[in-house]
Amino acid sequence: PAPAVTLSDRFARELPEMSLPWQAEDAPDPQLVVLNEALAADLGLDAESLRSEAGVRLLVGNAVPDGAAPVAQAYAGHQFGGYAPRLGDGRALLLGELVDTEGGIRDLHLKGSGRTPFSRGADGRAALGPMLREYVISEAMHALGIPTTRSLAVVATGRAIRRETVLPGAVLARVASSHLRVGSFQYARATGDVDLLRRLADTAIARHHPAAADADHPHLALFEAVVAAQASLVAQWMCVGFIHGVMNTDNMTISGETIDYGPCAFMDAFDPGTVYSSIDEGGRYAYGNQPLAAEWNLARFAEALLPLFSDDQEQAVALAVEALGGFRPRYDAAWAAGMRAKLGLPDGLDDAVTSALADDLLTLLQANGVDVTTFFRSLGEAARGDAEPARRLVLDLAAFDAWTQRWLTLGPDAEVMDRSNPVYIPRNHLVEEALAAATTGDLAPFDRLLEVLARPFDERPGLERYAAPAPGDFGPYRTFC
Ligand code: AMP
Ligand code: MG
Ligand code: MG
Repeated sequence: PAPAVTLSDRFARELPEMSLPWQAEDAPDPQLVVLNEALAADLGLDAESLRSEAGVRLLVGNAVPDGAAPVAQAYAGHQFGGYAPRLGDGRALLLGELVDTEGGIRDLHLKGSGRTPFSRGADGRAALGPMLREYVISEAMHALGIPTTRSLAVVATGRAIRRETVLPGAVLARVASSHLRVGSFQYARATGDVDLLRRLADTAIARHHPAAADADHPHLALFEAVVAAQASLVAQWMCVGFIHGVMNTDNMTISGETIDYGPCAFMDAFDPGTVYSSIDEGGRYAYGNQPLAAEWNLARFAEALLPLFSDDQEQAVALAVEALGGFRPRYDAAWAAGMRAKLGLPDGLDDAVTSALADDLLTLLQANGVDVTTFFRSLGEAARGDAEPARRLVLDLAAFDAWTQRWLTLGPDAEVMDRSNPVYIPRNHLVEEALAAATTGDLAPFDRLLEVLARPFDERPGLERYAAPAPGDFGPYRTFC
């Protein structure tokens, strides 16, 4: 039976300037590779019918449900600091919005669905490996409790696509609370149509930050809400060692969800300079630069919103600067709260005390090249009275003992630590291993990895290899978009 999917075309109808009607290209032989049954249930969709031939045709974009009107969304963006006025969905489509079982509105979106008017000479396609990569990492982020777009399915198209080698093509069905980005506002602003900018901002308020509607100055309140959401998000990335890799303004959401899993990766040994992306030559989006990159993007967001802040340019800028000033204290507070939990310390402990203690620990981890995920999890044992598992990861024992003594006097709670420090993260070597197998048709390692990562804090016997750092021969890691 064809799946019952009710998609609204509200975004396309209400903001016609922000997208172009479009259709997915035909997939010669669509085959479902992975379906997220739990997410399907949250969306009120029947997994069995999504697995049917009609369901797979829907998930690959070749069958459009009644009433839906797919579009390619327009956006601009700063890529590595340089402004690109016309990016947009070059290989993606918004199929429409649906209402989930909790009443929330979610975008159903396809990535890898063929060329669009925004493709700029590229092929509009995606390879199976990178789409599975987005699937597994976004689902791991969700399980870690970090706001993110979700992955509903990956469908292999049956078409071979050209990259450095010939690879199987695929389409990812992505779910997000919306695909509005900083770059959407940059695009609207650049049209010079302030009414469009206002309608876009009002849509973002209604959809993501409804409290802003009641503020004295709703558009300024929208900006402040996005500043807060991004400060919180990036602090959460930092606490788990996530490196986004391509924090361009078109990859920063208004909702505060992580979006666009291209060259992202999790850091192993603690080092703020860590960069994995092959295209980030200057290290602009290195692990330690992420808070600054977020703040920079938010400044670009403020610039786009200026005409809504005040008719008086000087006053608009003053309001923007003041609101942007909220980023650093909010980020610092969110990071301190995250570190407090990772260290098992009481909620009331002062941010400055927490930050000093955490900074000293991170300095020690960096100097000793310690795997940060393994270390934090092992430190829970130290809170239970056995410092050995953490201690043996460090070379400088005197420094470890001195730090540990300081920390133990604050009375850390091991249970809080176990809920805050994951055992299992999508480690680079495990992801690569799973994708390599999947590309040759063996999905068992991928399915197993998904299962492990769905419960990241729950240590289970027999899964030691999923908790361990990369073997020495894995070598330096590079990611590609
Ligand atoms: P990203 O850096 O992944 O956010 O992508 C930047 C822009 O490049 C977006 O407008 C994408 O739609 C576009 N893009 C990326 N890959 C392709 C592709 N294979 N074909 C067409 N457009 C693409
Ligand atoms: Mg993108
Ligand atoms: Mg991308």
